[in-house]
Amino acid sequence: MLDQFRDKQLVQQSLAEIRRITTRPWAIMEICGGQTHAIMQYGLHELLPQEIELIHGPGCPVCVTSLELVDKAIAIASKENVIFTSYGDMLRVPGSSQDLFAVKAGGGDVRVVYSAIEALHIAEKNPDKEVVFFGIGFETTAPANVISVVKAKNQGIRNYSMLVSQVCVPPAMHAILGSPANRVQGFLAAGHVCAVMGYREYEPIAQQYRVPMAVTGFEPLDLTLGILETVKMLESGQVEVRNAYTRGVTRDGNLIAQKIIHDCFEPCDRNWRGIGMIPMSGWKLKDAYRDFDAELKFQVQDIQTRESEICIAGQILQGLKKPYECPAFGKPCTPQNPLGATMVSSEGACAAYYLYARIDHE
Ligand code: SF4
Repeated sequence: MLDQFRDKQLVQQSLAEIRRITTRPWAIMEICGGQTHAIMQYGLHELLPQEIELIHGPGCPVCVTSLELVDKAIAIASKENVIFTSYGDMLRVPGSSQDLFAVKAGGGDVRVVYSAIEALHIAEKNPDKEVVFFGIGFETTAPANVISVVKAKNQGIRNYSMLVSQVCVPPAMHAILGSPANRVQGFLAAGHVCAVMGYREYEPIAQQYRVPMAVTGFEPLDLTLGILETVKMLESGQVEVRNAYTRGVTRDGNLIAQKIIHDCFEPCDRNWRGIGMIPMSGWKLKDAYRDFDAELKFQVQDIQTRESEICIAGQILQGLKKPYECPAFGKPCTPQNPLGATMVSSEGACAAYYLYARIDHE
């Protein structure tokens, strides 16, 4: 089925239609880092008419996890008797002075897992250890992450906890669109986030800022169709949220997943790395689950964060600069030696440009 959405001819037809209807410059943000990578990988940014600028948004969970939480993860993982578990990308994210890989290299028990449930199983098998899962991500990962906490509580597994770094898209959209420096005129809303949350909550944002949005998937044809819908609205002056990813998204989303989220999490202010605090942009565990909150359980004190002085990832995440405008891009910052989180992740904009854009790194 996916072949259809990678069909060269269909992609070219939609690109031709975008070219046909575009009469002036438009700046469109894809909020999701997965979309940024697909755009760069397939070279779609080079096939669009030059009037269409794609601005890369802050939708990479690895990139926006705050430095303070990365440093807390490192401090917890360095403790005796702790097994620290995380998705793989987080191990290479630079903290203030080291990363989780360095903790592992120094003898810490840091393990890569593919799900929170896998981390919970590790806790079941190691009752004499404290097992911590680094729960990062947007709305997409929130239900699967938090279900591990629900299971831990229901099964009486007390040696499991989650270091929570869940973030939400709508407050980030408000922050971007409300900024005096904003250049975004249209949005591609992330298909996987909308598969969980639907897209009703984007409708008032679109109207408030007069910015059209298209819910968009991740294959080349998904992306060109999302861009086409957005350009159609921009050219005609219509402001709506249109669904260009109907095979994965409904307006209401997944109500069961939303219930799990709202039963276990409550909104909180959250710091986004490189961007700063965005009010009510995160979720934290509700009081009923506080025994499973690693921040409360470990009370890691004396975290003094120190961000790289060279890295301009914050400006890139806000769409104000492109990765190649960073003086460190490709030299000395590379995926093998990342100076910032956006060069680490499989969803980070700097890594996408490094891997796919035709830029001389020498
Ligand atoms: S190239 Fe490296 S140093 Fe520059 S913004 Fe990207 S991650 Fe930061």
